[in-house]
Amino acid sequence: MRIFKFGGASVKDAAGIRNVHEVLKFTGYDDVLLVVSAMGKTTNALEAVVNNYFNKSASLQASIQEVKKYHNQILLDLFDDEKHAVFTDVSRLFGDMDYFLSHNKSPNYNFVYDQIVSFGELVSTTIISHFMQSVGIKNQWIDVRNFIKTDATYRDAGVDWEQTQKNISKNVKKKALNITQGFLGSDENGFTTTLGREGSDYTAAIFAYCLGAESVTIWKDVPGVMNADPRYFDKAVLLNQISYREAIELAFYGASVIHPKTLQPLQKKEIPLYVKSFVDPKLPGTSVSKGADLEPYTPCFIVKRNQLLISLSSIDFEFIMEENISDIFALLHKYRMKVSLIQNSAISFSVCVEDKFGNFNDLKTVLARKFKVAYNENVSLYTIRHFTDQAARLISDNKTVLLRQISRETMQIVTKES
Ligand code: ADP
Ligand code: ASP
Ligand code: MG
Repeated sequence: MRIFKFGGASVKDAAGIRNVHEVLKFTGYDDVLLVVSAMGKTTNALEAVVNNYFNKSASLQASIQEVKKYHNQILLDLFDDEKHAVFTDVSRLFGDMDYFLSHNKSPNYNFVYDQIVSFGELVSTTIISHFMQSVGIKNQWIDVRNFIKTDATYRDAGVDWEQTQKNISKNVKKKALNITQGFLGSDENGFTTTLGREGSDYTAAIFAYCLGAESVTIWKDVPGVMNADPRYFDKAVLLNQISYREAIELAFYGASVIHPKTLQPLQKKEIPLYVKSFVDPKLPGTSVSKGADLEPYTPCFIVKRNQLLISLSSIDFEFIMEENISDIFALLHKYRMKVSLIQNSAISFSVCVEDKFGNFNDLKTVLARKFKVAYNENVSLYTIRHFTDQAARLISDNKTVLLRQISRETMQIVTKES
């Protein structure tokens, strides 16, 4: 079986969905599992709904209407007959969402978030499944929440591999086209969970691992993995092939073309990953596989924006040693900071983090009990893999460099945004 993943950009409108059909005609679809994300920027729009709900904002209804209208327009573009069952199925899903919002009693933001944002994927896959059926491609719509079981860490759920493996081996129909949602799972009580933003690539890898799939292809709006994000570097070049190790490094440092959790399950079973263009499926794209040399060999640039650089120094000249460092890490973990770089000296410790869950103020208060805390908000972290002097100059010139760190293959530079 092959696993294909189509992200939000590929299904952002009716033309995008028709294009998925074209891609499937080109690749074949007899023994394929399709993992699909929410359409376009729907997840952001549903995040706004959740925020409006918690803030008791007057815009709540308007934000819900916006999501419904967007999908309704896509339905009208795709289906001539307004009596088609897809209209009922989609409005039933939105009805469930309304029902949840008007009956929910939970004050847990992360829990509510998952119950709401998940409708993005449920609706997109419902539309796409019906559309494929309407153009003669028989398929099975499957509810991923019956397959991927997780813990109850809402918004960042951890996979229960044993249960998931059992469900997938037993119930995924082979020699068929299956269509399912990326990003979602469910906990042991059956509540919906999500795997972290941009997590649909990871969903594809979970299915691939559990099915021992032949390959995973993630279809993107770029020709493949490039040596830099082409949105920011106009001279970016395509990497024809890279190893799992290289891909993990690039993804971990923030090359958002692949979700960082995607690689590990694939690497374990040596399942090749192809990153290809949904605009032109004939192009070869990037192939990620075991031990493949980086081809072409070239510096790779990654930028993570909106990072936080925290510098701690001891109040009384006490050394920052193992014990302190382990205390600091326990706190970073507790406050769910994603650490991307650390550097320490005798009496100071710097860490560049991403405050995904908005916990920095609380963390700062706790840290200040023991350390002098300095910090810069909204810094950028540049990572150059296989750096050269010229590559380093390209990044540092005309910027205020706050920190620089060099290891054998990797240079990292933290800069202040001007
Ligand atoms: P999806 O629609 O699957 O969610 P994303 O938008 O998350 O896709 O990923 C594709 C985007 O990743 C591209 O549009 C590109 O701007 C960005 N990107 C970041 N780093 C790279 C890179 N090294 N190579 C290619 N694209 C990259
Ligand atoms: N729809 C989710 C998001 O936008 C998951 C994904 O697209 O991968 O984060
Ligand atoms: Mg995405």
